Amino acid sequence: MSTQPDVVDAGAAYTVLPSSSPCTSEERATALADLRFGVTFTDHMARATWTPDAQWHAHRVERFAPLQLSPAASVLHYAQEIFEGLKAYRHSDGSVWSFRPEVNARRFAASARRLAMPELPVADFLGSLTALVETDLEWVPASDGASLYLRPFMIATEPFLGVRPSHVYDYVVIASPVGPYFAHGFQPVSIWVAQDYHRAGPGGTGAAKFGGNYAASLLPQQAAHAHGFDQVCFLDAATGANLEELGGMNVFVVGADGRVSTPALTGSILEGVTRSSILQLLAEDGCDVAETQIPLADLLAGIRSGEVREVFACGTAAVVTPIGRLAGEGFDVTVGDGGPGPVTEGLYRRLTDIQFGRAADQHGWMRQLV
Ligand SMILES: *Cc1c(COP(=O)(O)O)cnc(C)c1O
Repeated sequence: MSTQPDVVDAGAAYTVLPSSSPCTSEERATALADLRFGVTFTDHMARATWTPDAQWHAHRVERFAPLQLSPAASVLHYAQEIFEGLKAYRHSDGSVWSFRPEVNARRFAASARRLAMPELPVADFLGSLTALVETDLEWVPASDGASLYLRPFMIATEPFLGVRPSHVYDYVVIASPVGPYFAHGFQPVSIWVAQDYHRAGPGGTGAAKFGGNYAASLLPQQAAHAHGFDQVCFLDAATGANLEELGGMNVFVVGADGRVSTPALTGSILEGVTRSSILQLLAEDGCDVAETQIPLADLLAGIRSGEVREVFACGTAAVVTPIGRLAGEGFDVTVGDGGPGPVTEGLYRRLTDIQFGRAADQHGWMRQLV
């Protein structure tokens, strides 16, 4: 991933077709007072449509409403669907910003290529975020640590059961106000390591933000819950020996010697924006950081010996999540004292300070939406 912000050409203009029945300010205030992840949605959604002749067209912001879809739409049969996840943060002066959205835009294009879908130009991706956030500005929470979660996605809508890439696609962005992931301070999560299931394999779709990867992760995630654990961690499908990632978060290991490592991108790991940003922050600090192979056996030995001090997961939703316990068939270990460590906490604070405008944005990571 490039570390410099892009200069992006102006994209297509989004026509705003305002909802005739938006929430009243009272209804909105009630919704914003009880923020749970992905439950409440704003009044509008941004959209564009792709056909072979017109390419991307009909860029618009319209009422948030059920989509009209043929039961034969190919997404419902062959799962051509990709998505993104990022947030809009309100700063103390009322302005609204997002964190490295051009990286999400490029990843969305890369996911599209892997799923044989048309790429949405980076400018159109960024324009959709601005258009939606401008329209639903009142929905961007001002409360501490809260933000507006943005969910761009693309689906294949052609009514056709033949197995080939669809000829028609819809791009949609919906938005959901969310509270801070940890409303009551850091709560370390417990992780179950899946040894009989994988989320992605060599040559597969693991590096794309593709709904099907999540579908594949649900059964092992359910098994993790059944064992009493919060989340599942996957190992590489080729050898079953090396750490890959959680169902929707990347993972880092902090050594007692200060060395920080994360699984190298193998083609079956999703390259998180949070992961890249953490790697850059640590490297700039002069920290010894490595993208490398992390055998589960080595990690367990390190946790037992105390050589490994902290393990954490990272992603847009939670930013950074301490992992306090790691278990699987035949092992169950506590990381350090089971609580969050200083490296994990420090990274959480640094990233959220930049995102919420409390610290100088020295990297040009923030892009103003409104
Ligand atoms: C989205 C996602 C992540 C985290 O990516 P961020 O850009 O940091 O939010 C990690 N793993 C998977 C599988 C994902 O889908």
